[in-house]
Amino acid sequence: MAGTIAGRHPHRTRAFRILFSHRHLHHSQHRVEFALVDFSALTISNPDMPGSRIQTRLDDHVAGLLRCRRCPRMESTPVSGGAMVSDVILVGQAPGPREPVLQRPFAHTAGKTLFRWFEESCGMNEATVRSTIYFAAVCRCFPGKNSSGGDRVPAPDEIRNCSSWMNDEIQILKPRLVIPVGRLAIAQFIDCRKLEDVIGRRFPVERTGHRFDLIPLPHPSGASPWHKILPGKQLLERALKLIARHSAIVDLRSHRPMGED
Ligand code: SF4
Repeated sequence: MAGTIAGRHPHRTRAFRILFSHRHLHHSQHRVEFALVDFSALTISNPDMPGSRIQTRLDDHVAGLLRCRRCPRMESTPVSGGAMVSDVILVGQAPGPREPVLQRPFAHTAGKTLFRWFEESCGMNEATVRSTIYFAAVCRCFPGKNSSGGDRVPAPDEIRNCSSWMNDEIQILKPRLVIPVGRLAIAQFIDCRKLEDVIGRRFPVERTGHRFDLIPLPHPSGASPWHKILPGKQLLERALKLIARHSAIVDLRSHRPMGED
């Protein structure tokens, strides 16, 4: 793992050695392995941003996010997928009513479809996706219902309020791949008047001074049949293929975390 990513992310090389070293060891060997790791050397030899500092910054970031109460009209507190250091960020729209209760994003029906897409195209099940990809969203709190009973679309001021959290995440993680899910999420990065124009394509994007690839997905909720009928069905397949073949995903798949053997 370290060798694979060293060229592109030299500052993360040592961090990955630590995170996944246990996969190659029997549990009885863990104590020995950790005794061999020199954490102080990590900080000194990588003044740019060593892996341990990325994790610390992300831990602090998520703790701050969970305390956020900037938007008075939101009907829940923030939902986070956890401080997962990753080269890939998945950006949802906003949690529904169940996510705040279950305390994780994409916890209900839309999540089932989303994780099935990842399983079928990338060979990554829900546990693997949740433990290797960082989950962000346009808004992190449940906006409540609209007058027709559907989930309220976050207002522009709420989207603006919440965008600083995503900017900070991009600054901390410097992802190679961002996957926005649904029109509202896609529109935070590129023009998205028609899904047909953006699904199935990869876009080079720059945000907060960092460049990454953007591969948009349609929203997996049952509310829209777009991804089930042509041309959406075919474009979705193309998008999932692009994601499966992206080097950031290939690296995640070849170094799956504990529990996937
Ligand atoms: S939507 Fe975002 S900015 Fe608004 S209160 Fe929730 S976490 Fe904070």
